[in-house]
Amino acid sequence: MRSSPGSPTPSEECAVRGEEADEVYGVVFNLQRYSTEDGPGIRTTVFLKGCPMTCPWCHNPEGMDPRPELVWYEARCVGVRECLRACPREALTLTPEGMVIARDRCDACGACVEACPAAALEVIGRRVSASQLAKEAARDEAFFRRSGGGVTLSGGEPALQADFCAALADLLRDRDIPVALDTCGGVSWSRLEPLVRRVNLVLYDLKQMDEGRHREYTGVSLGLVLENAVRIADMGVPMWVRTPVIPGYTDEEENIREIARFIRDHLPTVERYDLLAFNNTCRDKYRRLDRIFPLAAVGLLERSKMEALVEVARKEGLDSVCWSGAVTGK
Ligand code: SF4
Ligand code: SF4
Repeated sequence: MRSSPGSPTPSEECAVRGEEADEVYGVVFNLQRYSTEDGPGIRTTVFLKGCPMTCPWCHNPEGMDPRPELVWYEARCVGVRECLRACPREALTLTPEGMVIARDRCDACGACVEACPAAALEVIGRRVSASQLAKEAARDEAFFRRSGGGVTLSGGEPALQADFCAALADLLRDRDIPVALDTCGGVSWSRLEPLVRRVNLVLYDLKQMDEGRHREYTGVSLGLVLENAVRIADMGVPMWVRTPVIPGYTDEEENIREIARFIRDHLPTVERYDLLAFNNTCRDKYRRLDRIFPLAAVGLLERSKMEALVEVARKEGLDSVCWSGAVTGK
C-alpha cells in the first residue's frame, strides 16, 4: 500500500518566486468570503489555479489550467471593439456569433480588459504575493473567531502551488487563524506533506474506487490518492472526506460502500463523510472558457437517491454521514 514519497514533476511546479527575495507568488482565481461549505464555521476560501485531475464533472473549470485565462461576458458587451484595438497579439475577433479568443495567441496580458468600457472581459486568475493574500484572507478574522471558522485553501489543487500555500498558511497561523486544506490527493506526497503539516483540517476527495474508472475520469491513479489519504490520517490530522455524487460516474451504491469501508478501515481521523449532489450550474463557465462540459444536459439527482447513499455509508459503520446540494423530489 505504501511507497516512498515521490518527487514533484515539472507539471506540478506552479508557484512563482517573486522579484522580492523573501516573497512567494501564486495564481489565485477567487477569494470567497462567508463560505459555510468548506470546513467548520464561517470561512474565506482561497481558490488556486491548476489541477492535476481532469474530472469531467468539475464545477470549477477555471481552476484546471494553472495559467490565467481570458473570458468574455456576452450580456455585457456593447460592441465598441475597443478590446480588439487594444490587443497587441491580435487574439480577438468579434463575430455575429460572439467573441472568438485565439487562446494560442492570448497571453492574458489584460490590455483588452482595461480597454473595455463595459467590463465585458475578465482575466480569470491573478498573480498575488502570499503576504498580500494573507491580508485579504484575514479580513474576516473576527467572524472566524466567533464562528470557529478560518481560511480554506481550495482550487484547483492547492498543492500544485505548495510553496505559496505553505507561506500563506504560515502567515495565517501567525495570526492564530485556523487553516483547512481542500485537496484531491492526486499529487506527490513531497508536495502535500508540508501543507498537511501546517493545517488544522484536511478536506479530502474520494471520488471513484475502481482504479480503471478513476484513472479514466480523473487522469490520476487511485492508488496515489488512497496512499496520500492514509498518510494524512497517520499524521493524526483531522479529515472530512467528500464524494461528489455524479450520475453515471460515482453514484453507484457499490462505489459509496467501498469508500465508506476504506474510511472505516484506514482513516481513523475522519470526522465526517459528505456526499455532494451534482448540479450543472457551471455550464456557462465551460462555454466562456471554450471548453465542452460533457454533463451539461444532466439533471439533478433525486433526494431519495442521496438519502439511500447516506444509508449505504452508515451501514458500513460511519457515524457522521451528510449530504448536501440541490436535488429533485421531496
Ligand atoms: S479534482 Fe476537483 S478541481 Fe480538479 S478537476 Fe477534479 S473536480 Fe475539478
Ligand atoms: S488578454 Fe491580452 S493578449 Fe489576450 S486578448 Fe486581451 S489584450 Fe489580447
